[in-house]
Order: sequence, then structure tokens, then C-alpha cells
Amino acid sequence: DINKLHRISDYQWRIDPVNGMHVPGIIFASKDLILDMDEKVYEQITNVARLPGIVNASYAMPDAHWGYGFPIGGVAAFDPEQGGVISAGGVGFDISCGVRTLHTGLTVQQVMSKQKELADVLFKTIPAGLGSTGVFHLNKKEMNAMLNGGARWAVERGLGDQADLERIEEYGCMQGADPDQISNHAKERQKNEMGTLGSGNHYLEVQKVVEIYDQNIAKRFGIELNDIKISIHCGSRGLGHQIGTEFLKSMVVSAKDYGITLPDRELACAPINSKIGQRYLGAMRGAINCALANREIITHLTRQAVKHIFPDIHLDLLYDVSHNTCKLEQHEVNGKRKNLFVHRKGATRAFGPGHPALPATLREAGQPVLIGGTMGTASYILAGTSESMQLAYGSACHGAGRCMSRHQATKLWRGSNIIQQLADQGVLIRSPSRRGVAEEAPNAYKDVNDVVKSADQAGLSRMVAKLEPLICIKG
Ligand code: 5GP
Ligand code: MN
Ligand code: MN
Repeated sequence: DINKLHRISDYQWRIDPVNGMHVPGIIFASKDLILDMDEKVYEQITNVARLPGIVNASYAMPDAHWGYGFPIGGVAAFDPEQGGVISAGGVGFDISCGVRTLHTGLTVQQVMSKQKELADVLFKTIPAGLGSTGVFHLNKKEMNAMLNGGARWAVERGLGDQADLERIEEYGCMQGADPDQISNHAKERQKNEMGTLGSGNHYLEVQKVVEIYDQNIAKRFGIELNDIKISIHCGSRGLGHQIGTEFLKSMVVSAKDYGITLPDRELACAPINSKIGQRYLGAMRGAINCALANREIITHLTRQAVKHIFPDIHLDLLYDVSHNTCKLEQHEVNGKRKNLFVHRKGATRAFGPGHPALPATLREAGQPVLIGGTMGTASYILAGTSESMQLAYGSACHGAGRCMSRHQATKLWRGSNIIQQLADQGVLIRSPSRRGVAEEAPNAYKDVNDVVKSADQAGLSRMVAKLEPLICIKG
């Protein structure tokens, strides 16, 4: 109900604090997106605003839709000095799910003359689908090394390039992981799943740059019109899911001990400075490393696959961003620097120009923000802005966002028809699951163009380039 919202600008809307909300809710979106937005998003961001120690506001990005506890597209930061909490539902089950984009140096003609061969070799090389297993198997010792080392571990094992590391958040390795806080069951689930895409909306996509909006930043990112890029979207597989499930349960129980009244069971959380809060942090950081290692290994496999067809091509990494995390960051609150735990669930970090966390080669341009659309529409690359640092802790949307449930989508579409339609449009889909393709039908998502325009107009990020799919390997 739009009447409950105060319009701050064309792209920013506010819910005033009522009934136990410590802070307002803020939604960044155009009026059209607001009118179509799932009502659950309002309820969920107001519930998040009731959690202890929340700072500034409870935010929703333009792609927001219903999620477990927190909306997907939710951003909230908590102050450990004010009893702030950490919430497993505020990170999400696919911990550190994220996107990376690779430069290929290939031309559109090169790819189109081998489109089918390339699709087939990628599909053969990258394990995809529910419960897919990889070619690497980790024993206990290697599992712990991976959980501590992330993409750096993969590079040390020859499963990635040294040069990739500076193009990954945290330089490829999240500090403060504590593998001892991760259950054997979680590790067991993961031991054969490294280097796999998983199912659902995870993908590897060969894309063509069809539009440039900011020449200057595009140049710094190494993006030109008609370039071929490869984007990879996946996360921490069974390990992250198991950690999320286990800690959610224990946080429901421990909330009582810490005197926290949960506005919604799904918002189970624990004080950052509590035993269980610290245990979750250590486990979650291990899962971040798992996702970073996973995307690094998939990149390694992709490089091998592409070499089969284009032996002289090397893929360089533009950037790797996660969109399901909780991170300790410094932000300015009422003129003071504060250490905050920023939850981004289905939201991409989008640090602005000059931020010290960015590598020297990207610092002036701002952080690349990688946004998926669908397998049949566009995806976008944006750049973080200085304004964004003030608006929502340097965060932006992470995708188009679903506008209907998977179940609804399978009632409306058949996977085989979608694959045929997309082939007619020149997009080759390869997937182990027809049902999965139907669930992911392009029309099951919001219009990515509207979402990205909202993020740009709200000031969360700047549009840099638009990409369209040529090949999509779907999980
Ligand atoms: P999530 O992280 O919430 O699982 O998904 C992130 C976003 O990826 C979705 O909101 C959607 O816009 C996008 N997405 C899902 N499937 C595809 C795909 O096959 N290709 C592209 N380019 N984007 C996709
Ligand atoms: Mn994701
Ligand atoms: Mn995911």
C-alpha cells in the first residue's frame, strides 16, 4: 500500500517508525516498481527495523522481494556497542552467493561462429544442477585450508591465477574464518561440491556488451561495445546452506537467553558480542571463503573449456562481488566513524570512488557492481558512487529480482518451450533441468531495465554497461 510510504524523491520512499521500530524503513525504487512490489517486503523491512542495535534505517533495494526473514534485496547494519545483532536470515542460506565477470578478448564473430561448440564444451566442463559434484574432493585438512584461504587457497593449488586475487572482494580471502565452528555435516556436504554451479538461478553466461553509458568508467573497467564477457553466478553450495540452517535453529533458541524478542521467528539473531554470534561469524566467514574458492575453481574450469575452442585466449577477471554477506565495515553515522556489521542479503556491495577496500586499479572508478537480469534479457555492470556510501552503506541491487514464485512459473511455462524460444532469439541454453529452466523463465523476474535505472537514479550506483546473453549454462 503506497499510502503508507512517504515519498522522499522519485526513487526513495520511507516508512516511518511505528510499534517498536527503532529506525525507519527505506525503499529505493521507482513508483512503478513500488506499486508492483510484494507487500511482504514492507512487512519484512519493518520487522528488521525492530531488531536490536540497528543503525540509520532498514533498507530495501529496487529488486527487493520476499525472502526468509529479511527480504531479498535487504540491507541493514548493526552497532555492536548498542547491543547490535547478527542474523543468519539476514545473510541468507547461500552465504556469499555472488557474481564475477571475466574479460575474454573474443569478438562477437568468433563466438557466433562457434556458438554451439562453445555452449557444449562449457556445459560438459562445468558441473551444474542439483547435487552436482565436482572433480576435486577435499579431505578434512584440505577442507579447513579451503575454509581459511578462499580463492587464495585455490590459486595456491594451481586452480586459478594469482592476478585474479586483487579483483576479488577481500583480495580473495576473508579474514577471521573459523572452520571449527562449521559442523562436520556441513563439511561433509561440501567435500565433493567444489567447482560446481549448483541449481536454480546459478549460471555461467557468455554475454555481449550492447551499450555503454559511461565511457570513462567503462574504459577503466576494460569494457568496450561488442566485447564478449563471461559472468558466473554461484555461491557456497551445500556448506553455506547447512551453516545457515543450523545457526538459524540455535539462534531461535538463544534469542530468549539474550532477552531478544523476535518480531518474526525467521529473524532469529544473536548479539554480535555473544558466544553464538561470534561462532556464527567464524562459520559464515568460512562459507564466504568457500564461495570465493568455488567461483575461482569454476573460472579455472571455464578457462580450460574456452581453450578447447580458442587456444590463444586468456580470461582476465574484471571483478568478483558477493551479495549474501555480513561484513564488519567502517561507516559514518551522524558525523562519527563507526564499526558496523552490515548485512547485505541479495544486495551487492557498491563502494564508491576512493574507497580503501578497492584495489589501486579500480579505486578511482569505484567498485564494479555486477547485476544479473535473466537468461533471456539483459544484465548490467554499474559502478559504486560516493553518494551510495551515505544512502545505504555503499550497497546496490543484485539482480532483477523475482516477481513470482518458482511454483507459479512452472504452472505458466514449460522449460523446453523457453529453451526453443530463446534459441530462436539467438541465445543457447544448456541445463540439466527443464523444470529449472521454467522456474527461471525471463518473465518470472521484474524488468531488469527498470530495476537498474532505479538504482542509478536513486544514486546507489552508476550505470556503466549493458550486456545481453549469447550462451547460458543454467544450474
Ligand atoms: P539470487 O542471488 O537472488 O539467487 O539471484 C540474483 C539475480 O540473478 C536474480 O535476481 C536474477 O535477476 C538474476 N538471474 C537469474 N537467473 C539468471 C540468468 O540465467 N542469467 C542472468 N544474466 N541473470 C539471472
Ligand atoms: Mn545469488
Ligand atoms: Mn545463490
